[in-house]
Amino acid sequence: MDLSYILNELGEDRSDYFNAVAPPIMQTSNFRVNTVEELKKLFADEYSGYLYSRGLNPTVDILRKKLAALDEAEDCLVFNSGAAAIFVAVLANVSKGDHIISVKNPYTWVKKMFDLIFSRFGVDTTYVEGTDIRQFEAARRPNSRFIYLESPNSWNFVVQDLEAVAAFAKRHGLVTLMDNTYCTPLYQKPIPMGIDISMQTATKYIGGHSDTLGGILTGSREMMKKIFDCEYLAVGSGIQPFNAWLLIRGLRTLEARLERITATTRDVLRYLKKHARVESVLFPLDPSFPQYELAKKQMKNAGGLISFFIKAGTRAEIVRFCENLKHIMMAVSWGGHESLILPRCAGMEDADFDALNAEHRMLRIYIGLESADYLTGDLDQAFRLSF
Ligand SMILES: *Cc1c(COP(=O)(O)O)cnc(C)c1O
Repeated sequence: MDLSYILNELGEDRSDYFNAVAPPIMQTSNFRVNTVEELKKLFADEYSGYLYSRGLNPTVDILRKKLAALDEAEDCLVFNSGAAAIFVAVLANVSKGDHIISVKNPYTWVKKMFDLIFSRFGVDTTYVEGTDIRQFEAARRPNSRFIYLESPNSWNFVVQDLEAVAAFAKRHGLVTLMDNTYCTPLYQKPIPMGIDISMQTATKYIGGHSDTLGGILTGSREMMKKIFDCEYLAVGSGIQPFNAWLLIRGLRTLEARLERITATTRDVLRYLKKHARVESVLFPLDPSFPQYELAKKQMKNAGGLISFFIKAGTRAEIVRFCENLKHIMMAVSWGGHESLILPRCAGMEDADFDALNAEHRMLRIYIGLESADYLTGDLDQAFRLSF
């Protein structure tokens, strides 16, 4: 399906709402029915129509159709946050006594979900490096049920061979979920590679303006209906109509924003690689990246995140560098219009800083929609002032 068609037309029946170009926000909690028969049908299958907005809502449905098409998936569910999407997807697919295989260092709150919540219900998790299929094979137990992937990781960009893991999972009847937030479906499509559930945080590139949280699951109609019928409705963390509308608006410019961000990121990458204060960079499509060949094979492109290692002797130098930036803001998250920096040593005491440990000298920069010169100029003055 044509990307322009998906972003501009799919799912939108404009003649239903006065030919307005922008869709209406159906800000309603419930929907009336005309007959008891209709009510009976909705009670039996809430996925078949509009009853109550904790279930389906017409504004959210426009978004669901577009997101499913972007992923080449049959169906889609949208949540109030990425964390909610992940929680509900795992909850729907594991039971007491099951075992999860997860990549090491998944998103912070995913690790907490596994270690602090699912563990209380007798569901254990084994973490694997994820760089070799044999690590998954070695971790598999007779009660393994679920594989959690994130490729690339949003800090160190470690990737998994998605087709190999999907084939392994299918052989053993395991459900796979892959966090595709880094790439978006524009740069990587996990579903055609055999992954069961593709997940994204809409908070990042889909929203694109740092003003909305949202989470996305796509997959087969059967899988989405299974999740909807029980856990989606029970947890009640589906996206609200206004936020869905903001995400539809974000989708209009997704391709244009990603193109711009991707090009600017290459300029900033070139600048960082040449800078005397930068020891090395991490970027999945840079030839120096340890898994460059695999990244190139399964990703169409790489977006706005770069990690780099600064030559610093003390934590104070890194603190000075971050605080001397005038335009690039210090903040968590990414995917919006604004460039951001995050130092790995933020949560650390000065005394625990070890200059010999490269990870202590690691920073992650996210490149937004500003111009490359504006950003490299800012980095330049901060380097000069800080060291
Ligand atoms: C931000 C993020 C999440 C969590 O999404 P929220 O919308 O903040 O709940 C999950 N995975 C990745 C890779 C993220 O960057």
